[in-house]
Amino acid sequence: MQSTMMNYPLTLAHILDRAGRLFGASEIVSRLPDKSLHRYRYRDFRRRTLALGGALQAAGLRQGDRVATLMWNHYAHLEAYFAIPCAGGVLHTLNLRLHPDDIAYIAGHAGDRFLIVDDVLLPLYEKFKDKAGFERVIVVPLSGSKVAAGRDDYEQFIAGAPALKAPQLDENDAAGMCYTSGTTGKPKGVVYSHRSLVLHSLACGLGDTLGLMQSDTLCPVVPMFHVNAWGLPFTGVMVGCRLVLPGPHLDAASLLDLYQSERVTITAGVPTIWMSILQALEKNPAQWKLTPGMRMIVGGAAASEAMIRAFDRLDLRVLHAWGMTETTPLGTTGYLKHHLQALPGDERYAYRNKQGIPAPFVEVRAMADNEEAPWDGKTLGELQVRGPWIAASYYRLDAEADKWTADGWFRTGDVVTIDAEGYVKITDRTKDLIKSGGEWISSLDLENALAGHPAVHEAAVIAVPHPKWDERPLAVIVLKPGTTVGEQELRDYLAPRFAKFWLPDAFAFAAEIPRTSTGKMMKAKLREQFKNWEWT
Ligand code: AMP
Repeated sequence: MQSTMMNYPLTLAHILDRAGRLFGASEIVSRLPDKSLHRYRYRDFRRRTLALGGALQAAGLRQGDRVATLMWNHYAHLEAYFAIPCAGGVLHTLNLRLHPDDIAYIAGHAGDRFLIVDDVLLPLYEKFKDKAGFERVIVVPLSGSKVAAGRDDYEQFIAGAPALKAPQLDENDAAGMCYTSGTTGKPKGVVYSHRSLVLHSLACGLGDTLGLMQSDTLCPVVPMFHVNAWGLPFTGVMVGCRLVLPGPHLDAASLLDLYQSERVTITAGVPTIWMSILQALEKNPAQWKLTPGMRMIVGGAAASEAMIRAFDRLDLRVLHAWGMTETTPLGTTGYLKHHLQALPGDERYAYRNKQGIPAPFVEVRAMADNEEAPWDGKTLGELQVRGPWIAASYYRLDAEADKWTADGWFRTGDVVTIDAEGYVKITDRTKDLIKSGGEWISSLDLENALAGHPAVHEAAVIAVPHPKWDERPLAVIVLKPGTTVGEQELRDYLAPRFAKFWLPDAFAFAAEIPRTSTGKMMKAKLREQFKNWEWT
């Protein structure tokens, strides 16, 4: 029997239109590089977004074309978030923390035609512009600088632009894309559809996931180039809440000043950010007056129980969430079910320290030896997921097809337990990557480079827990007989090839690297050996 319901497309165009009509007076505050605050309202945001879409079409944007952004979190980036997909294009957010060569590779692989870039990021753009072939470069004059010849000034580009010709969008059309360097090998592109972003926004708005409301003031600290700032700009605009976008200043004092002055009620970022905020608050308890009960979404790496407890004491509410670039990213959220709220403190925290239960429409299972592990909170297995906002493939990359099982689940590479209540706990990763301050570092790439040094026989780079960055790389080096080399020399040797934050903070010299019978490095053993490393 056929239903009698309309087949209404789920697209971002609806979210933009609705926000402009219903929430025209909601404010969007952006902190600029000079720390001044740019303020405007949704009605201005919608008008300028439509102008940007029209200008891109006039510049030759065709349906499905990729437009890259190299930007911090601010109003113009938000305009690009909606203008590009609503004009029929694909928003491709470039990660400004990557090495310039990687950014060039990613832009080339995605086939980006245009670039929108902050003027303060032009020095970075200069480092890879010869390797990237953008047809047009549109510069946002955030710091008021004059835009060089041959490039477009964003403000002039959108001024007097022809009206956006709303394309016929299918909900399965591509709307955005993001590359993850989360596993070994080349960066992998994930392409989000309008439908997946809309359903993800609806799910993120739910009270038991991220619970965003129109009355909130939302400050996404997580960069807009990390999985669309976890989808928060889309969800925030959908519910019509006030937005506070922090720009490039992400140190604890700058963020706390902003939370206080703009009366932020909900914010989101990686544990590294919260650790520095906690330190600042504990050092100067009287300096900032934050909104009582401010929610802090933590993801990207595990939030420790100690951190959750410490924020509770300050009347700030940590919400632990797990996700990936491939999962848009909302996977699980660590709220407490009603009957668990009455548990004694320690048991309650044991639940809150887990990554949480899956959002509606995200299915999870833990697979051990091709069998689904029981939900007993003990049996380890690889977390596999499926759902309407989970990637079904990577963009132009067949080599990674084994990331999906024959029966259609995505293999996350995270090792977990799932308990009887459905709470997922991440215990490890199947791969040996290092995640520092929310950014991935590939141990393999560093090892390969180190192995090129004349004094190095072999090297193993491992993740070691770090109080500020979660994890930092430590390189275990086996020297060639009769040679010596200093730490600084090895660091200098690596420096030209890698982003600065990739360089190992510590080197340990060893007689050999432990290996399995098949010759694979036993990284787990090394991690165990160095887990209590004293960082200086
Ligand atoms: P990315 O795609 O860069 O966002 O990285 C996703 C990976 O980050 C996941 O596969 C996990 O290994 C890790 N991750 C994300 N959120 C959490 C969390 N709450 N706890 C522990 N690990 C996490």
